[in-house]
Amino acid sequence: MPALLDVHPAAWPQLFVDMGVAAFHGRNAARWVFQRGAHGWEEMTDLPADLRQRLQQEHPLATAKLLASSGAHDGAEKVLLEMHDGATVEAVGMPGTAGRTICLSTQVGCPVRCKFCASGLDGLGRNLSQGEILEQALWLQRQQGPFHRVVIMGMGEAGFNLDAVLGALDVLMDEEGFGMSARRITLSTVGPQGALARIAAWGRPITLALSLHATTDELRQQLLPGVSKRGIVETLDEADDLFAANGREYTIEYVLLEGINDALTQATELADLLFQRRCHVNLIPYNTVEEMDYTCPSRLVMETFAQRLQERGLSVTLRRSLGRQTDAACGQLRRRQRPPTRTSTEV
Ligand code: SF4
Repeated sequence: MPALLDVHPAAWPQLFVDMGVAAFHGRNAARWVFQRGAHGWEEMTDLPADLRQRLQQEHPLATAKLLASSGAHDGAEKVLLEMHDGATVEAVGMPGTAGRTICLSTQVGCPVRCKFCASGLDGLGRNLSQGEILEQALWLQRQQGPFHRVVIMGMGEAGFNLDAVLGALDVLMDEEGFGMSARRITLSTVGPQGALARIAAWGRPITLALSLHATTDELRQQLLPGVSKRGIVETLDEADDLFAANGREYTIEYVLLEGINDALTQATELADLLFQRRCHVNLIPYNTVEEMDYTCPSRLVMETFAQRLQERGLSVTLRRSLGRQTDAACGQLRRRQRPPTRTSTEV
């Protein structure tokens, strides 16, 4: 039998039948997990005790262990989870005026190896399964309470693991799962070959956050070595095709790096690239990573960059960075915790 979280909850009744158990117990178990926030079989008190015991022994609901958590004064809280094979991943919960947002990882490490990101320093470990992506949501819910938005912006490049990512999003959105609106879900990607077309064909109206970070192919290939064969204009055209398919304006993610991509001429180039495209620009102040030489531009430089984009008719946000206090940048807590300290708790 596959791990339960790797299976869409609509199929749980049949899985239970295959185990020789009545189908309604499968429906009931799915409700416990996705709608009532149960973390283990022992919590499902209306399942027969002998069935709960059997399920615990034969099919543990989730297998991740909590290795560490780190909070910041602004309320952002990051958790470090250890998977069944010892791989570690980060997930984050962030407060907001419209409720809590959770940020989930999709891979162990990352093959894109962005020069400014701690997650990419060691390249790709492996893909996460659908269940391992969902476990992060269950852990954050357990630690921090209900969530209202999901962003796929943690460790890894979602576009290189779309089977698991779209499967997890289906469970987040479907009635038998978490029942979230697609409009509360954002998927971040650098737009690898075929990824945006696949998301368009999938057809759910989630929001795309396209990580651009540069205005020329040459600079983008330097900063994001893992997308070296992709052109910026080609990638933006595919994002436009996705907008045509699902009707959702997309976001351009642009991390501001002092002396690298923060010049006014680059703001003008970015405005030219985005002219008449249905997108919003999200400027992200660089979050310092110890092992890297980059620095964040001054507030004045960032505001001037944003102003140039606005003058050219673009909608722009200069993002505040939640979690600046403690290991905030993607991948930092994970790196700081190696080798892991085992103060584990099981879901
Ligand atoms: S920024 Fe995103 S795509 Fe780039 S290395 Fe980090 S996790 Fe991967």
